[in-house]
Amino acid sequence: MSLNIAKFGGTSVANIDAMRSCAKIVIGNPATRMVVVSAAAGVTNHLVQLANEELTSEQVNELIAKVESIEFAILVGLQSPPHVTVKLNELLSILRDLAFHEELLHRPDLKDDLLSLGERMSSLLFAELLCQMGHSAENFDARKVIKTDNEFGQAEPDIAQIALQADKLVRPELERVVLVTQGFIGSDEQDNTTTLGRGGSDYTAALLAEALDAATCEIWTDVIGVYTTDPRITDKAKPLPELSFEEAAEMATFGAKVLHPATMVPAVRKNIRVFVGSSREPEKGGTWIAKDCKVEPHYRALTRRKEQVLVTVKTPSMLYASGFLQQVFEILARHHLSVDLVTTSEIAVSLTIDNPPNSVRARLNRETIEELKEISEVKVEEGYDLVTVVGNNMHSAAGVSSHIFAAIKDYNLRLICYGANPHNISFLVRESDSTEIIKLLHRELFEQEPLQSHHANHG
Ligand code: ASP
Ligand code: MG
Repeated sequence: MSLNIAKFGGTSVANIDAMRSCAKIVIGNPATRMVVVSAAAGVTNHLVQLANEELTSEQVNELIAKVESIEFAILVGLQSPPHVTVKLNELLSILRDLAFHEELLHRPDLKDDLLSLGERMSSLLFAELLCQMGHSAENFDARKVIKTDNEFGQAEPDIAQIALQADKLVRPELERVVLVTQGFIGSDEQDNTTTLGRGGSDYTAALLAEALDAATCEIWTDVIGVYTTDPRITDKAKPLPELSFEEAAEMATFGAKVLHPATMVPAVRKNIRVFVGSSREPEKGGTWIAKDCKVEPHYRALTRRKEQVLVTVKTPSMLYASGFLQQVFEILARHHLSVDLVTTSEIAVSLTIDNPPNSVRARLNRETIEELKEISEVKVEEGYDLVTVVGNNMHSAAGVSSHIFAAIKDYNLRLICYGANPHNISFLVRESDSTEIIKLLHRELFEQEPLQSHHANHG
């Protein structure tokens, strides 16, 4: 029988009622033999605060109390069975020890230990709920399988190791029982706990689906699929019934919040169909992401990525030094920075990088910029958003670029990337303009029928 991995996000497991809807979804699909859960909504944010901020012990206690109240409310909903109460209290006492650990703020390994607790608690509670609803389930420690490097906070999975461990430890169990495991967490070679970066639970689900040759991977969240754009930007946004792997990867990379950017990578490698839907309203369906789609429109969706930094690296000698670009990219690669937009002129290269404050990324950016300064003049400009139109054959269809640029002709586009990839056109805009730009483009590309330039100008 074909295997399905079901992942439930933080809001889906935020409380006992939300969890019950998830349990029904699991029980309703006999192909679901492995479940991946996020931490209950809010918990990871509290843990991140504990791990990163200089706090008084009173503030530490307050944050711990907030986490406890979320977890205990679920425990009470389960009628506080003694064996689960004991385990939950063990995890909470680990949390307390780590939260008060003197070296916490300087030790990335301790931070990841602390961050892992949200998922370890939610998976314990969700496994118990499934059992209480008559489904044979067990809590399973994802760290035994999700092997990673030791870049704490942003660990890179080791695909070959994961496949080995999954074969050995997971596959033989799936006949017998449904395993409920943690998203987001893994372990390095020395078995230290690591995390995959914020929102990493989707990635865990896709990695497990890959390792176990699953046919499908369901991402259950609080929206009924992937939308034409973020519904918080415009209420005209519409859910999409289908997306191709390429489109979904572009959307996730360029800011669609519903999927962790790396999620599509394992799915593409193993051709696993990915579903995104709402655990609260499963009857409303969702978005299926697959290799091929019934229709491949020029315009599928609009995404935005905030907190972009424009870095311009300039060397007067670039004219003569053909190795300059290579040097620049070598430095970026060494810091594992991926660059989304690049433009070059004879003496300069401009590129955009993500810069969420206080993140591992931000630290890597600072280090990278310092190194770039050793070989060139570096200018850093902040306050930009990256807006991306995702679709198909955009580079070869006449009229696509003029259609898009005409709609937003009154705005200043600081940097444009067009032509390198058939699935997107991206531009960098002032962050104060991006909402209006997306609304305008959405109206032009998705709210008008028929779209003349679609049909008239097939390239
Ligand atoms: N709990 C983690 C986070 O909030 C991972 C996840 O939810 O995917 O970032
Ligand atoms: Mg999440």
